[in-house]
Amino acid sequence: MYRSMSSFAIGCGRLPTLLAVAIAACLVSSVALATDEPADPPPMTTMQWQHLEKLINDRANEIANSRQFFEEDPRPTEVVATLDPTTKVLRLDLDVSFGRLVGGLELEDFQSQIRVGMEDLTDQIPGFNTTDWRIGGRDMDYWFNEDFPLPERDDDLRLQLPLREPSDENPPISQLEGPNDGMYVQSTSSEAVLPRIVVAAGHGAYHHAKFGWTTQRERVNGVLEDDITQDFVDHLFRMTQLNGGDPVRVRADNAGLTHEASGLSARSVAARYYLEALEPENDAIWNSKPEDPSDLRERNQDIRSRPLYANAIGASAIAHIHTNADLPKASGTRVIVHPGRGADLAMGRLTLCSMRELIHADERYVGYTVPLDPNTVSEKGENTQAEMPSMIVEVGFHTNPNDAKLLLDPDFQRLAMRGVAKGMRLFREGASCESFRVGAQPQMTANVGQQVQMPVDLKGHPVYPVDISVKQVNCKEGQACRSERRLVASKKAADEYRFGYLCWHGEEEAPLEFVVFAKDVDGVATPSVTYTLTCKKQS
Ligand SMILES: [Zn+2]
Repeated sequence: MYRSMSSFAIGCGRLPTLLAVAIAACLVSSVALATDEPADPPPMTTMQWQHLEKLINDRANEIANSRQFFEEDPRPTEVVATLDPTTKVLRLDLDVSFGRLVGGLELEDFQSQIRVGMEDLTDQIPGFNTTDWRIGGRDMDYWFNEDFPLPERDDDLRLQLPLREPSDENPPISQLEGPNDGMYVQSTSSEAVLPRIVVAAGHGAYHHAKFGWTTQRERVNGVLEDDITQDFVDHLFRMTQLNGGDPVRVRADNAGLTHEASGLSARSVAARYYLEALEPENDAIWNSKPEDPSDLRERNQDIRSRPLYANAIGASAIAHIHTNADLPKASGTRVIVHPGRGADLAMGRLTLCSMRELIHADERYVGYTVPLDPNTVSEKGENTQAEMPSMIVEVGFHTNPNDAKLLLDPDFQRLAMRGVAKGMRLFREGASCESFRVGAQPQMTANVGQQVQMPVDLKGHPVYPVDISVKQVNCKEGQACRSERRLVASKKAADEYRFGYLCWHGEEEAPLEFVVFAKDVDGVATPSVTYTLTCKKQS
């Protein structure tokens, strides 16, 4: 909602030359948004499509040439934007020389900067679908497969991987929860173990062929993305356990260990090196495309190592945790999935919906932008190479001073990652992202002297236990209002709960009102709902 409101505001201001139709569209849209009902904007005329295409084309080229994105600077760079009014796809073409850069972080950053820098324009495309990058006329999948072929899906490789030994900091769920006792360690059958969820902290220090050991990002507004993603993953790891998954890291969590080759803390180095230590025999995971002559070879291997490892261990989902970069005004969460992968999109949607619910549950963060739809982006190697539902969660923009403050705030970190863990659970359960609320109740009636039993209908997917609160609000003067709080441990207990009220003489005059709300253990509270009860004289 925040996102669409602000982009409409920008959209209406940015197209002064469009016809009166556009102005009408803006008016209609703001009215519709004010009443919270989506309205179909009127279709755009051919002239409007062409105008928007030109604005997008100019912006893309402006950003592409605004700074040096690549160690070997190819500027001047030409991007050709084509907008298809039928499919609502924005196609961006680069020349064939960019093909060799596919799979590398430099190209991802370049494409990401252009895509995000144009969001105020692409938001004006009614029903905007996706950005389709082409290099030499071929789509990104072609280049990924051409340049960096996926290793053969090899059962031998999977068998070679030792079962992950439970450790102190990574106890098996079987030790946390009674009913699963022993299952994790005894059985190797995929039905018996909890779903493995790879929780991948983005980036980490790598070895640059010329400059030696270096971080992948720079510290901005106090945030070093390479490190802070690990803090987020600490939370996500725990929350994934609480949500019934078996989390798997791709970077070391122990700051006390030293990574020998670099002399750095093991926690600060990239996944490539952790996986090398973990799986020295399986170099296809962490040393893919070893002949790559680029100085950035190991950084590029790091990107691929994450999904390749997830593939090898048969993970059921993977979440890549990042922070975002753009102009200082860009703000809020983004989730990025690969185009044409329905499961990934569904997981991304549920994740955003849950993140919004959890982050906004704390009044300090209610204004934080969490859009409801993921961005579909074809150039992300972390997603492309994953054989299971995969998404990149850009929690916030470290380039925005306000976002950066939140990214450093442990309360915000915890809520954001609770949202991710919950969204992934809802995806596994095939659940919807119905928001947590108390269902409306038809008006109740009871005779004076009769005890009425009011059920409380909880909707959505709270994390139990849940606290149900019922409070009478319009009791007579001099009479105490009845109120009750009840902790219910499960959905079943919530369904069985009844609030009892006995109608008294003198209460027949006006309906009685009770305010009902609930709060779950994650701290998410429902809006208040009013139940009414009419007490009748016995006839
Ligand atoms: Zn990143």
